[in-house]
Amino acid sequence: MFPIVLVLTLLLGQAFARDWGLLQLPFGLKKSPEVEFISLIDQTVTRNSDSVHYSSLAKEDWPIDFDQYRGQYVLRVNVAAKEDLNTLYTAAHELNVSVWEFSVSKRFIDLQVSKESGVEFLQHVTGQWPDMDLQLDLVVRDLPQAVFETYSSPDEDDDFSVQQDLFFKRYRDLKTIYQWFDLLVATYPDLLEVEWIGQTYEGRDIKAVRLTAHKSEPSPEKPLKTLVITSGIHAREWISVSTSCYILYRLLQDYEKGKKKARLYLDSMDFLFLPVMNPDGYEHTWTTDRLWRKNKQQTYNPRCFGIDIDHSFNFHFTKSEDSPCSENYPGEGAFESLESSVWDNYLNETKHDHPIYGYIDLHSYAEEILYPYAYTCSEKPRDEENLIELAYGLSQSIRLTSGKSYAVLSACEDKGSDLLPAMGAGSALDYMYHNKAYWAFVLKLRDTGSHGFLLPPKFIVPVGKEIYSSIKYFSSFVTDK
Ligand SMILES: [Zn+2]
Repeated sequence: MFPIVLVLTLLLGQAFARDWGLLQLPFGLKKSPEVEFISLIDQTVTRNSDSVHYSSLAKEDWPIDFDQYRGQYVLRVNVAAKEDLNTLYTAAHELNVSVWEFSVSKRFIDLQVSKESGVEFLQHVTGQWPDMDLQLDLVVRDLPQAVFETYSSPDEDDDFSVQQDLFFKRYRDLKTIYQWFDLLVATYPDLLEVEWIGQTYEGRDIKAVRLTAHKSEPSPEKPLKTLVITSGIHAREWISVSTSCYILYRLLQDYEKGKKKARLYLDSMDFLFLPVMNPDGYEHTWTTDRLWRKNKQQTYNPRCFGIDIDHSFNFHFTKSEDSPCSENYPGEGAFESLESSVWDNYLNETKHDHPIYGYIDLHSYAEEILYPYAYTCSEKPRDEENLIELAYGLSQSIRLTSGKSYAVLSACEDKGSDLLPAMGAGSALDYMYHNKAYWAFVLKLRDTGSHGFLLPPKFIVPVGKEIYSSIKYFSSFVTDK
C-alpha cells in the first residue's frame, strides 16, 4: 500500500508543483530542476529598486525597445564538478540557449532563457545526465527592467565639461566618449594624445589614447616601457569601457595633483588605452540591442552578422563549427574582423621604441584574473611563476581597496579550452602575450551575481577604483623591472 501512496503523492505533488508553483514536494523529496525553475520564476518578489519601471514610461522615450527582452530570465546553474560545466555549455550550445557567463572558479553557468527554453534545457540535461547535481538561482528576474536600469534618465544634470567627475555618473555612448577624449586633450595637452587607428565596417573611428609625461624621445637604448589597456571588445560589457576611462582619468588627476606614484609612472612609462575596441558593436548596444556582443560585420550568411573579435586574432586561430549566427563566431579566417586587423597593423607599424611590458584586457563578468594561454592548457606560459605571482598581486590590490576577491586562474581553464578546444582560440590575450606584451592578463570585472552584464551605473566608480589600484600595482611592477 505504502509505495502506491508514495507514487500517487509524488505524481500529485509534481502536478501541483507545475500548476500552482508549490515550493515543496511531500516527504522532503527534491524537486526536479525544471519544477524548481518554474517555482523560481513564479515567486512573487517585491522589487527592490529606486528606479521607475520601464513600462511606466512612454515607448517613444525608450532608448531601445525593451519589449524584446520580455519573458526572458537569467538562470544560474551551479554545479560541483568543472566537467559538468563543459557538459552544460555544450548542451546550451546545442539547444541554442544564450550563455552569459561560464565561471570555472565559481562553478556556475548563466543562461538567458524564456520559461519554455529554460524548461527544455533542464529537461534535456536531467534526461541525459540524471545524476548531475544542479543548484538553480534566478540571477535576473525582470530582464527588460534590468536592461533599462543600465541607461540613465536623460534629464540628469551631468555636464562633465564643468565638473569632470560627473562623466562617471552614468555609462556613456561612443559619441560622448570621443567628445570626452577631446576635452581631456584640451585640458591636458602635454600628457595626452588621441590616435586614430582605423575604421570599422560601419565606418566608425577606432581611437586609441596615449598617455605619458616623458619628455625626451625614447630610443632603442632607452625605450619607453608601455602598459596597454583595452576594453569593450565585447559590446555589452559596458563596465569594461567605463573602467578603462576611469583609469585614464585617475592617472591624469593624480599626476596633476602631484601624487608620487602617478608622477613616477607617467614620467617613466607610456600608457596606451583602446577604450572602445568594438565601436560598431558598442553603438548597437546603445541604439538597438543592449545584449549584443560581436562587431557588426557582414558574414557569408545574409541573415546573421557580426564576428566575435576576441576569437579573430591569428595566434592559434581555429575556424570553429560555429555559424555566423553564433555569438562566438570567429570569422572564416584570422583577422577577418576589421578591429583585430587594424589593431595588429597599428601595433606593427608604430612605436617600436615603446616595448609593451604589460597588457590588460578588461571584460565582464565573474571577478577573475586570467593569465595566458587561453587556447590550451598544455602549453605553459613563459616565466609562469612570476606571471601568477603578479596576478595574485593584482588581486590583492583589489581586495585591499574594496574587499572584493578576484579569483586567479589560467584563461584556458576559465574558457574550458582544455575540454572544448575552440573556446579559447584566436584571443586578444594570447595574441598580445605571444607577440607583443611580456606580461598579459584578462580582468573579468564585477559582479558575480545579481546583474551580470547589466551592472547598474552606481558601480562605475567603485569598480573603477578597485581596478585602478591593480593598475598601480602593475605599473610599480613594470617600473621596477
Ligand atoms: Zn568579454
